[in-house]
Amino acid sequence: MKWWFGSALWMRILLGMALGVAVGFALRPGGLAMAAGVDVQAVDAGLKLIGDAFIRLIRMLAVPLIFVSVTAAVVSIADLSKLGKSGARVAALYIPSGLMAATLGLGLALWLKPGVGSAPPAGIIPPEPRAPPTAQDLLFQFIPANPVQALANGDMLSVIVFAILFGVGILGAGAAAKPVADAIEGASHAFIKLVGYVMELAPLGAFALMAWVVALMGVEALVRLGALVAVLYIGCLIYGVIVYGGFVRFGLGLPVLPFYRGMSEAMAVAYSTSSSAATLPVTMRAMVEKLGISRRMSAFVASLGATVNMDGSAMYMVILTVFGAQLFGVDLTTPQMISIVVTSSIGAMGLAGIPGGSLVFIPAVLGIAGVPLEVIGIVLGVDRLMDMMRTVVNVVGDAVAAVAVAKWEGELDEAAYLANRAPLNSEDAT
Ligand code: ASP
Repeated sequence: MKWWFGSALWMRILLGMALGVAVGFALRPGGLAMAAGVDVQAVDAGLKLIGDAFIRLIRMLAVPLIFVSVTAAVVSIADLSKLGKSGARVAALYIPSGLMAATLGLGLALWLKPGVGSAPPAGIIPPEPRAPPTAQDLLFQFIPANPVQALANGDMLSVIVFAILFGVGILGAGAAAKPVADAIEGASHAFIKLVGYVMELAPLGAFALMAWVVALMGVEALVRLGALVAVLYIGCLIYGVIVYGGFVRFGLGLPVLPFYRGMSEAMAVAYSTSSSAATLPVTMRAMVEKLGISRRMSAFVASLGATVNMDGSAMYMVILTVFGAQLFGVDLTTPQMISIVVTSSIGAMGLAGIPGGSLVFIPAVLGIAGVPLEVIGIVLGVDRLMDMMRTVVNVVGDAVAAVAVAKWEGELDEAAYLANRAPLNSEDAT
């Protein structure tokens, strides 16, 4: 058992998935299992049950985790926004940037159709079409009349709005609300821990759901997953290179090469750890020692960014939802697409910068689209591969914002940026 818990979770998940694929093929019509006289249907049902149980565990955490983490994120933002104008500037960059990344994800997924196959997987799960929300429904989701009901129903947009407002209230109340702020912060740590425990079961969940889906779809399932990974990588490359690079070059008037050269180490750490929180120290070091940003500004923007700026994750959640809709034949209406984009980009602010941080939020986005949650289990095996890439975008996005705000506030030493070294006055700026 020691070797099991001693090895990295993503490797165990991959192992579970690989075993699931093998078992799934054995369960295919005319496969080994049938030849051996196994009751294939019963095994399929059992696998599905295990997979569903795992998904329920993730769902169990979604509402409370999102509520406390979004509230905590707001409290931390405004704490930092005491730093004045820079706070507003950072927010002015982070919010549209998340929306743009999510919109790019939507466009790519609709265009490249990773979930549409030559053989549509008829009969996996009958989609439950929801009545398309009207403009009024959409507006009212932003104004929950009864937040407790919104929490109970899992209306994520309403929950997020309430969490943001609650955070604002906590800040407004100042010292009087300090115990609540601390409790919320503590609860968010507890939930993140709990997610870690639930994720220990992910190898089993990935095994069961992979076996189930391969038994139903065969090779087609693998082809679809490959297409999903490819679309996410394309999206991240476009966003990470063209959008960020274009902004640095044309928005800020700085050459891009020193930027990426300076960030290369942080990008490598982000890719290998899949955690923007774990990469934070490396990101901060790169900002100060390579990009010529003052210490004060890097501490401020990097820590804020590692908490709330997750463009790669926002894009991922949208791509995954559209993928799921395509896989299960769910038609998305325009208001649903808007909701998916908005919810993903706001939701990305409440994510923990840990491996698989997005997973907990995904049921909420899938729910808006009426996409069966089974899609989570199906992609679990390849999630790590996508997590690595989206984390790089998350981290690079923080650095872009840091360079921008530092430049606007006169805290960027351009000579140091060009030479990839620490600014001469970095000690004074601490
Ligand atoms: N792993 C990501 C990060 O740390 C979050 C996620 O999308 O799962 O930035």
